Amino acid sequence: MPIAMNKFVVSPMLLGLPVDLSDEHQLFDYGHDRTQYFSSLYKRPALQPRDHYFLQHFKGWTVRTSGHGLNTQRVHLMDFRTSQRHGTAFVYTLPLSEQEVFVEYTLFTTELLLPEHYDEALKEYIGQVLGVHEYEVVEEESGIIPMTNHRFRRAEGSLVRIGTAGGDTRASTGYTFTHTQRTIDRILANVRSGKPVYPFTDHPAKNYYFDSTILEVLHRGTYPGSLIFEHMFSRLPASLILKFLDSETNFLEDLRIMNSVNKKPFIAGLAKYLI
Ligand SMILES: Cc1cc2nc3c(=O)[nH]c(=O)nc-3n(C[C@H](O)[C@H](O)[C@H](O)COP(=O)(O)OP(=O)(O)OC[C@H]3O[C@@H](n4cnc5c(N)ncnc54)[C@H](O)[C@@H]3O)c2cc1C
Repeated sequence: MPIAMNKFVVSPMLLGLPVDLSDEHQLFDYGHDRTQYFSSLYKRPALQPRDHYFLQHFKGWTVRTSGHGLNTQRVHLMDFRTSQRHGTAFVYTLPLSEQEVFVEYTLFTTELLLPEHYDEALKEYIGQVLGVHEYEVVEEESGIIPMTNHRFRRAEGSLVRIGTAGGDTRASTGYTFTHTQRTIDRILANVRSGKPVYPFTDHPAKNYYFDSTILEVLHRGTYPGSLIFEHMFSRLPASLILKFLDSETNFLEDLRIMNSVNKKPFIAGLAKYLI
């Protein structure tokens, strides 16, 4: 959401005027005074030749059962025991109580599925993997997160973008919350020390190369996503993978992660971004 510092900003939208909501220039007349603007309005960027644009799309159900057969002690993080017929797909599960479990079917692909395909995959997983056959869906959620190595423009004049629009979504994982919080910490550190809000050190450049390589490998399809993650999970401690997902790994840890996957497709993928 747009927030103005020091000065109150009324957008045309709030005045009920017709406006193209995807156009920040229409919403804010930024760059003409000392007001600082923040925006998290997102629109799909115009892609550059080496940009990939995958979608992380998911549908989750909270299901209630009689409790019979439900393992309430086990959480599944990226469980690939689901069909890969639509592309890289996995399931998260989180038991919520003796009777309730949250199950989320997630894909990394370039196209969305038909609504019934998400439901089919959820039903299949709940029956075949969780072994639960009688249940009621008590809640559902869904979402789409862009996974792109496009380089977003963080700032433009007095406008600073935060969130996905500012490049805070990690392209290889879709994780956004942690990165946005880091960006906001950096903004606040500048404000507290009386400096201009921007520039600040953005996410490390190594993330760009790492993420571009993963997206390139997924795009080529010669090393399926399910196998990449299977290799990572079977060859590395879960704590290291969690650190990677939160972008907290150091250089040596990054090398360990790279070492856990088949080198040839990754070197070929990386080469595209180094040349
Ligand atoms: C069900 C679900 C579960 C998720 N789980 C996770 C998770 O566990 N971890 C994680 O990292 N990410 C998760 N995500 C993704 C995460 O929510 C997004 O990546 C993140 O919220 C993006 O942040 P953002 O600030 O860029 O945009 P948003 O959070 O979408 O914020 C943009 C805001 O702008 C407002 N807005 C949009 N257009 C206009 C307009 N024209 N005028 C005024 N306001 C406008 C929107 O209403 C919204 O409030 C999940 C998403 C969903 C849907």
